[in-house]
Amino acid sequence: MNVRRVDALDPGERAALFDRDAGVDAVRDDARDIVDRVRSEGDVAIRDLSREIDGVEVGNVDVTDRVERAAEAIDEETRAAIEDAAANIREFHERQLPEDWTEDFGGRELGRRFRPLDTVGVYAPGGTAAYPSSVLMGVIPAVVAGVEHVAVATPPAEEINPVTLAAADIAGADAVYQVGGAQAVAALAYGTETINAVQKVVGPGNQWVTAAKAEVRGDVEIDFLAGPSEVLVIADGTADPSLVAADLVAQAEHGETSSVVAVTDDEATAEAVAAAVDDHATGRDREETIRAALDNDASGVFLARSMPEAVLFAEEYAPEHLSIQADDAEALLDRIPSAGSAFLGPYSPVAAGDYATGTNHVLPTNGKARVTGGLSVDTFLRSTTVQRLSEDALGDLRDTVTTLANAEGLEAHAHSVDARLEAGAVDGDED
Ligand code: NAD
Repeated sequence: MNVRRVDALDPGERAALFDRDAGVDAVRDDARDIVDRVRSEGDVAIRDLSREIDGVEVGNVDVTDRVERAAEAIDEETRAAIEDAAANIREFHERQLPEDWTEDFGGRELGRRFRPLDTVGVYAPGGTAAYPSSVLMGVIPAVVAGVEHVAVATPPAEEINPVTLAAADIAGADAVYQVGGAQAVAALAYGTETINAVQKVVGPGNQWVTAAKAEVRGDVEIDFLAGPSEVLVIADGTADPSLVAADLVAQAEHGETSSVVAVTDDEATAEAVAAAVDDHATGRDREETIRAALDNDASGVFLARSMPEAVLFAEEYAPEHLSIQADDAEALLDRIPSAGSAFLGPYSPVAAGDYATGTNHVLPTNGKARVTGGLSVDTFLRSTTVQRLSEDALGDLRDTVTTLANAEGLEAHAHSVDARLEAGAVDGDED
């Protein structure tokens, strides 16, 4: 990897870094065709697309009955790891559950209550790597929120990864379907003979998954566009270049379209990270994928003239994962509002959050961290505001409401207030 200077980036390079789309736009038309096919042909389209794209003859799309068996069949060590991760994820998400509240604002009793969605679909990627961890990250917050029906869709295979199935069981999913890519998103959004349509589709995936989510948005709720993974590491002269490089290589392992970035104000650190990346990549199981991701236009090692310039670079990038391996990491984080999840200090590798710290790893990519956070319990809740007014409180509001109603030409609105305040107008008035 070469080191590039932040102040020497040309407009094209800046656009590749800060306006990245990771190939999603390029497959929008393909994804739309797939969505339309599933919408009109249902299960037949799922089977045909699974044969054409995944090379798998799918018998039963619904594999829920295999889940418990898989959970029993996996080895003890793997089961313990899933249960341990699941417990941490559950604990962190339970902490997010909001409480209903009511407060008296001088006769206006106002409140907010939260109720879970009824049905959600969680996409668990499984193309180039299996992601049982994404099953935990999607299903557990929904179950904690109280969602009754949580379905999982994951790409078909001759034998679906038993760890993915076991994760669905341990997390509390009540249906698992073998269908991947854009066809999975369409099936969850619109339903087929086998798959029930859900109210909200969540979860990360590759370009086709992300493009399909953009396509169905509006007909069904989605979480946000969570595409190919990204990491940005801010390092200063105190960082261990080898650990920074290890984090970049780990993220690059996700897929060829993943983006990995380090930015530092220290020239020696920049050179050392660039060299160490190469060392860490060599001989890895997925070296080819890693090298392709390292070569992305949105990847690289960057030298800033100062820490403020590095911080500005990070904020403009708005990464999915932000790692800060520098002095006073909290102060630097304070100046970067746009990041999906932050990892502070040398002992907080992104991989720990990917699996087991308890935070969610389904996070906004492609700069969407500028406007949204990752999956959480909130994703699966709807809220209702509630008000009860006393006669006096309505009297206090009378002039304000009727004046505004009349100003908007909505005279009947004004009347609905006046009618109540005429003497004795309300039967059984409690006040
Ligand atoms: P995937 O399940 O997302 O995609 C596999 C599916 O893509 C296949 O089943 C197939 O249907 C479809 N597909 C593949 N090639 C196609 C083609 N040419 N035309 C139409 N459809 C095609 O699995 P993946 O490919 O391994 O990608 C997973 C992605 O999810 C990675 O990029 C990873 O970085 C990302 N990820 C993101 C997060 C996050 O929170 N943002 C978390 C985990 C994983």
